Amino acid sequence: MGKIKVLSDHLCNQIAAGEVVERPAAVVKELVENSVDAGARRIRVFLEKGGRALVRVVDDGEGMSPEDALLALERHATSKIATAEDLQAIRSLGFRGEALPSIAAVSRLEMITREKEAVSGTRIVVEGGTIRTVEEVGCPAGTSITVRDLFYNVPARRKFLRTVETETAHISDMFLRLALAQPDLYWQLAHHDRTVHDFPKAASLHDRVYHVFGAAVAKSLIPVDFQTEHAAVRGLIGPPELQRANSRSLFLFVNKRPVKDTLLTHAVLTAYDTLLPKGTYPFVVLFVDVPPRLVDVNVHPTKREVRFRDPPLVLDGVRRAMAQGLESAMKASWTRPFYASLESPRPAAAAAAAAESRAGLQGMQPWTVSGPAARPEPVPMPWPNRLPEGSPAGDAPREERPHEPTGPPAFSSLRILGQLACAYILVEAPDGLILIDQHAAHERISYERLMAGFGSAGSQRLAPPVVLDLPPLEADALSRWLPEVQFLGFDIEPFGGGSFVIHAMPSVLKHTDPAALIRRLAETTPAEERTPRVGLMEKLAHTAACHASVRAGQRLNLEEMRQLLKDLDATRLSATCPHGRPLWWKITLDQIQRFFQRT
Ligand code: ADP
Ligand code: MG
Repeated sequence: MGKIKVLSDHLCNQIAAGEVVERPAAVVKELVENSVDAGARRIRVFLEKGGRALVRVVDDGEGMSPEDALLALERHATSKIATAEDLQAIRSLGFRGEALPSIAAVSRLEMITREKEAVSGTRIVVEGGTIRTVEEVGCPAGTSITVRDLFYNVPARRKFLRTVETETAHISDMFLRLALAQPDLYWQLAHHDRTVHDFPKAASLHDRVYHVFGAAVAKSLIPVDFQTEHAAVRGLIGPPELQRANSRSLFLFVNKRPVKDTLLTHAVLTAYDTLLPKGTYPFVVLFVDVPPRLVDVNVHPTKREVRFRDPPLVLDGVRRAMAQGLESAMKASWTRPFYASLESPRPAAAAAAAAESRAGLQGMQPWTVSGPAARPEPVPMPWPNRLPEGSPAGDAPREERPHEPTGPPAFSSLRILGQLACAYILVEAPDGLILIDQHAAHERISYERLMAGFGSAGSQRLAPPVVLDLPPLEADALSRWLPEVQFLGFDIEPFGGGSFVIHAMPSVLKHTDPAALIRRLAETTPAEERTPRVGLMEKLAHTAACHASVRAGQRLNLEEMRQLLKDLDATRLSATCPHGRPLWWKITLDQIQRFFQRT
C-alpha cells in the first residue's frame, strides 16, 4: 500500500479556507467581489458580532440559476474563466472558483438567489461543507449570502479571531477600500442595527471620496490623471500637509482591485520623498489600470498582491503621474517657505475639519491636517555639561568658565546676536557662535513641562465637548486605551461608529487641540499594543509639545528669544529635542579662525 493519498474535496476546501478566509473581513471581501462581478448596483453588508456570528451580503446582481447555485459551491467552479488564455487576461475580480466552497467549509452558509427573469429562486443551506437543504423559494432578484458562525468547526482558527471591535474595524477598512473602487455602486454596511457606512451612488471618485473622508479632505486633494502607452494612472492625492502616521492612508488599486504591492507603494512614496517628514505617509487614492495581460493577479490566494509583467513600464507611469500632480500643487503653495509648510498645520484647514467633524457630517472624516511626525529616537548626544563639545565638528579642549557651571549650560547668560532664517537663534559664546534651533528648543521645553505636569495639574472640562471621528482601526485602538487615557486626565466617551466625544483633557495639555492630539496617538500606536501609562504620557507629551511649539519660520523678538533661552536653561535635558534632533550647534572660534586662516 502506498502512503500517498489524494485528499477529499472537503479537506481541500478546508485547506483553501486557511488561505482565503483569514478572518471575517476576508469573507466580506470575497462575497462583495462576487456581487461586483455579478453586476450589482447596490451592495448591502450586515454583520453580527464583528462578522463572527454573521456576515450577510445582499446584492441586486444577475443572480444564479438553480444549477449554477449548486455548482458555485463546488471547488474550482467559476463562471469567470474557462481557458488558460482567460487566465492571462482577467477582467473580473474573482476567477479562482475557491471562495464559496472555502467559506462554506468553515461556516454555516445560506445562499438565496434568483435570476431576474426567473419566477422563483433557490435556497441552499450548507453546513461545514455539507449541503443540507436545496429548495425553491420566492425571493427578490439577485443574491443574498449569509455566513454564520465562522470557523465553528475549526476551533484553532476561531481562537485567532480578535474582539468584535477589531474584526468590525478590519471589515470596515476593507469595505471602504472596495467602495472607493466602485463609486457608481450604492454601498451599505451595518453592524447589528447600526449603520457603519452608507455611501450613495456617486458620480465620480471625488464624490465618493467626499462621502468617505469628508469635505475637508476631499477639498484638499490633487487630481492626478496620466496616461502612458501601458498604464492609465488616475486618482486623488493629498498635499504633503495631509500626512498620516501609518500607511493605511494609501489606497492603491490595480485594475480596480485593492492591492498591497511593495513596488507600487514604493513608487508612490518616492514621489513624496523629501516632502514628508520621516515616518509619515501621504493620503493617496490611486488607480492604476493596465491591460489585463500585463498584470498577473494570480499570485496570492486573496488576490491582494499582483505582479506586473514589466514593472518599470507601469511604475514609471505611476512616478510621473505623481510627480506631475505634486508639482502643480507645490507651485500653487510656492509662497510659503517649504519647511514652514511642513511644520505648521494650516489653521484654516484644521479648523474647517474640526468644525465639520463637530457637525457630524456624513459619517467619518478620518483625515485632517496634522503636524510633523512624533517619532522619538534615541538621544545620540551625551549630556553636554561641556559647552565646547556642543558642535558635532568641534572638539576643542574643555575649559571651565565662570558662566558654565557644571550643570545645564546657562544659555540665558549669553548675548543674543539675532535670529537667522526665522529658525535659529544666534548667541555669542565665549569661545564661538551657538545656533539654537528655536522649534526644537521650544519643543523640548514644552515636553519637559508637560511630563512634569501630568497628574499634578488635574483635568479641565471642555465646553463645548469636542467630537472626534476616527477611521475603523484607529477607533478600535483608542477604545482599548480608554482606561489609560482616562487615567491621565482625559474624559472620552465612545459614541460608536468611530466617533468619540472628548469632555475633558489634562490641564497641562490645554493649549493643544485635543482632537488632533488623540488622533495622532491612535495613528501611531498599533491597536494590539498594550501601552503602559508612562509610554502613553510620553507620546501625548511629544505630540502636544510638537503642536504647541513655536515653529521654524516664525520671527521672534528679542524678548521672546530671551524667554526661550531662560526656559531652556530650566529643562532637565537640553541637548536634543524630544525627537532626538540636536537643539543647538556651536561653531567654535577655533574653527572660525581656521577657516579664515588666522591660526
Ligand atoms: P470566483 O468568484 O472566483 O468565480 P467564487 O467561489 O467566489 O469563485 O464564486 C463561484 C461562482 O459563483 C462565480 O464564478 C459566480 O458565477 C457565482 N457567484 C458567486 N457569487 C455570486 C453572486 N453574488 N451573484 C451571482 N453569481 C455569483
Ligand atoms: Mg469570488
